[in-house]
Amino acid sequence: MRQLEPGLVAGRLDPAEYTKNFSDLHPRLGDHEALVAADRCYFCHDAPCMTACPTAIDIPLFIRQISTGNPVGSAKTIFDQNIMGGMCARVCPTETLCEEACVRNTAEERPVEIGRLQRYATDLAIDEGRQFYAPAASLGTNIAVVGAGPAGLACAHRLALHGHNVTIYEAREKAGGLNEYGIAAYKTTGDFAQREVDYILSIGGIDVLDGQMLGRDFTLADLQAKHDAVFLGMGLGGVNMLGTQGDAVNGVIDAVEFISNLREADSKADVPVGRRVVVIGGGMTAIDAAVQAKLLGAEEVTLCYRRGQEHMNASQYEQDLATSKGVVIRHWLQPKGVASHNGQVTAITLEYTLVEDGVMKGSGQLVDIKADHVLVAIGQKLDGFGIETVKLDGRKIAVDAEGRTSVPGIWAGGDCAAGGDDLTVSGVAMGRDAAESINRALAAKAAITSAVA
Ligand SMILES: Cc1cc2nc3c(=O)[nH]c(=O)nc-3n(C[C@H](O)[C@H](O)[C@H](O)COP(=O)(O)OP(=O)(O)OC[C@H]3O[C@@H](n4cnc5c(N)ncnc54)[C@H](O)[C@@H]3O)c2cc1C
Ligand code: SF4
Repeated sequence: MRQLEPGLVAGRLDPAEYTKNFSDLHPRLGDHEALVAADRCYFCHDAPCMTACPTAIDIPLFIRQISTGNPVGSAKTIFDQNIMGGMCARVCPTETLCEEACVRNTAEERPVEIGRLQRYATDLAIDEGRQFYAPAASLGTNIAVVGAGPAGLACAHRLALHGHNVTIYEAREKAGGLNEYGIAAYKTTGDFAQREVDYILSIGGIDVLDGQMLGRDFTLADLQAKHDAVFLGMGLGGVNMLGTQGDAVNGVIDAVEFISNLREADSKADVPVGRRVVVIGGGMTAIDAAVQAKLLGAEEVTLCYRRGQEHMNASQYEQDLATSKGVVIRHWLQPKGVASHNGQVTAITLEYTLVEDGVMKGSGQLVDIKADHVLVAIGQKLDGFGIETVKLDGRKIAVDAEGRTSVPGIWAGGDCAAGGDDLTVSGVAMGRDAAESINRALAAKAAITSAVA
């Protein structure tokens, strides 16, 4: 029975509804389904899907391996390029990456289901505990990696393969970064994020120190003194809030925190949600927060974005997913303030926006939407504490094409570094490529040292 009282209320739904609502969005394909899906691939020699994948997985090869009955070999093909192929298969916006580029993606046809095939192969290998890699003989080097998110883990794994010892310093109590704390619960069900972390670390040579935060527990100079190189993969720890008096009102919260609480809750029934929820933002986080608020039993969920539908960062697929769950998306509205009663939000005031001479501005016309829960998803920002010596490019760490920062011996990648797409798969690509660059730099240094000796 749905609970309709106003305010932040936990347990709005029956237990069975939570189970249904938070089940796997795209369950794993069965053996026969996988063969049928693989059979649709044309195995293009100049496969555009490969170019569209930020980690350049050999997609025609891994699909061919599935269709010839070799899913474990297929998993190895995927992991060779992307050790987080399991999570990427679940969370990549394939509709704007590999599947958008598929030659079968036409008005008459649908693309090959690359993401679901990738999940089929990688899940099988992880479930069977197939380990394809072992660290090379130790080179006696030790690299510091800051942050155990997709970028840090991909970097650490590739460094270990080359024979470097790696120490990961992770501020939180669990590794995984936003795979553990941010991705929508219906995209990664069960404990897959931690199982994937365990799989990655099981090659050996990587130590993870949890609860160790750069800028609080140690400095960058400490890491430079103790390690041969440093990789910064700390993501974007800060969030933008409304900047009005609304930030201090009960019921107005950061959408990432809302999602993190949901991901970490023992039971979804423990997570409070409003009866009328307003989400501010137009990206993936806004959509994920809105959909999950609806799935927790909110009666009305309205997502407000300050520009038009075509400007939203969330893909058309994600927007459609939200509307199919009952989320109402409204455009050309920006927040102006919130109304409250006894310290609890009761409504949000928004201003209609318009574009004049190419510049978006407020129109002066206001509208109030009743709300007992406002989720703010207007972007994350770099928490620069502890990295003051490293140059920034805009609001992120400046890096060159190999991930080198302005400070010799320090690399960076993932969301904290300029130039990425703020996606799991781009974090993995940047971490992996920085590891290759670190390996080359240390090999060159070792060659010079041995020539001098
Ligand atoms: C709500 C939400 C939903 C998303 N959904 C998707 C999706 O569906 N698909 C997709 O492709 N992408 C999604 N993304 C983006 C994706 O999660 C990120 O691009 C990706 O996690 C970036 O990886 P990263 O390793 O750079 O950073 P993170 O995943 O943020 O990991 C950084 C790690 O560093 C640690 N850390 C931070 N500061 C310090 C410090 N000072 N010292 C030590 N450790 C530190 C953090 O605790 C964290 O573990 C989503 C993002 C959000 C916020
Ligand atoms: S990693 Fe993502 S973009 Fe690349 S092939 Fe797999 S699902 Fe597509």
